[in-house]
Amino acid sequence: MGDTGFAFFDDWDSIIIGGGIVGCFAALRLARARQRVLIVEGDFVGSAQSGRNLGFIRKQGRDLRELDLAREAGEAWQALAEQSGSDFGFRRDGNMALADDDDLAGRFEIWAREAQARGLDTRVLTPAEAVELVPGLKIGFKSALYTASDAKADPFPATCAAYEAARAAGAQIITGRRVDEILTEGGRATGVRIGNRRLRAKAVICTAGAGTGRLLRRLGITFPQDVIRATVVRTAAPDGTDFPALAPELSRPGIWGLNIGVRQSVDGSLHMSNAGGVYVPGLRSLGSLRWFLPLFLEKRHQLSIDWLGPLAFWRRFGDQAGYPSAAPHRDHPDPSPRFMREAFDELAQMFPDYAAKARILNLWSGDIENTPDLLPAVGPVAKVGNLLVGSGFSGHGFGVGPAAGEALAEIALGDQARDSLSELSPDRFANGTWSRGEFAL
Ligand SMILES: Cc1cc2nc3c(=O)[nH]c(=O)nc-3n(C[C@H](O)[C@H](O)[C@H](O)COP(=O)(O)OP(=O)(O)OC[C@H]3O[C@@H](n4cnc5c(N)ncnc54)[C@H](O)[C@@H]3O)c2cc1C
Repeated sequence: MGDTGFAFFDDWDSIIIGGGIVGCFAALRLARARQRVLIVEGDFVGSAQSGRNLGFIRKQGRDLRELDLAREAGEAWQALAEQSGSDFGFRRDGNMALADDDDLAGRFEIWAREAQARGLDTRVLTPAEAVELVPGLKIGFKSALYTASDAKADPFPATCAAYEAARAAGAQIITGRRVDEILTEGGRATGVRIGNRRLRAKAVICTAGAGTGRLLRRLGITFPQDVIRATVVRTAAPDGTDFPALAPELSRPGIWGLNIGVRQSVDGSLHMSNAGGVYVPGLRSLGSLRWFLPLFLEKRHQLSIDWLGPLAFWRRFGDQAGYPSAAPHRDHPDPSPRFMREAFDELAQMFPDYAAKARILNLWSGDIENTPDLLPAVGPVAKVGNLLVGSGFSGHGFGVGPAAGEALAEIALGDQARDSLSELSPDRFANGTWSRGEFAL
């Protein structure tokens, strides 16, 4: 996809680092404003998180400080779906989370009250009401949190649709080349360096996903970031054929079960992923542990540590098991057999008839980049002028990414920052004003 060659021009209005969903939406907004915009993507569009995620576009359960951005993103998704001319599986089919204990059920009540006070269509459902919406649901639970206006989409085609729209509006791209350095002069970003080549820009927008921390650290900007490797399983049709379109409708809403998320795609296949994942320690862990230790301890039941991971370049579980992965990736992260089994176990409780016949069509994993407060960092940084950051989406960026990209583009165009960014400043880590959300589920 796109151009693999080198950009013809050296001077740009904006250079965007990273062709994920955030970068593509930023590029789309800037190109429509007739800016000369270049995306520099180290691999290919959608190769990292944006093409490998579960595909939930949800507001419910989010930290309330992220809610306005999530709401704006719903509109951005809707507009892309209407304008792009391609069906990337965007459907406002709702999202449902299940609680099997009183504590979580109580938190659902609180979250729903807070959300309703902010005008959201979130409700708490009884099990009978939930089963009316998803008749095949067999797992036992006490209550469900449901937001009808939440949505879903197929991640890789969706990211490609955003990119194609940006291209059509005039954005250009370099793929397969990484930005080595963000260039600065007199405390302002002036462009990027790729190998020996320097490209200049009036604004640099860093939407490099898991690559952002490294680029910002070179500039002395505090941006704590670490990754958890999550596994996604895509099932074939229940009759065992490779034609998922034959699968009956199991669930229109995306479902957060007890430990797994399940989304049925428009082609009928189910996409499943567990809460949590595998932590692969590395040199970066030395720096990130002081930021992330409380979070790791809190989530330890959802994590497994792969101590040998950094050495396991020879291990290719996905290939060995014969399951083609979603999309080839330079880092080729291994899916976890444990999380795959656990996902199937819970699927068997949710939809036993389906699970008895289902088999795996694809299996892949992706590195979810997190911040210590599990909130994205979107906006300018005090230390370096003309530099905008949109990263640290902590497992929410497919849903909220479009609004973040648009909001960054507006700042680059000279507009005032949206109110929805007020609590998401990238500077909160440097100035110590970050905190974990009270209500996030
Ligand atoms: C398994 C999984 C399930 C998820 N499920 C959901 C979900 O259901 N709903 C949801 O909202 N979110 C989900 N997420 C999170 C979501 O996918 C991300 O938050 C979102 O895609 C982030 O988008 P991005 O554009 O910021 O980053 P990315 O998609 O990671 O894109 C960043 C890009 O930058 C490139 N890059 C990095 N460094 C450089 C460099 N130096 N030079 C040039 N390019 C560079 C990378 O190659 C990459 O393509 C999930 C993530 C995973 C992995």
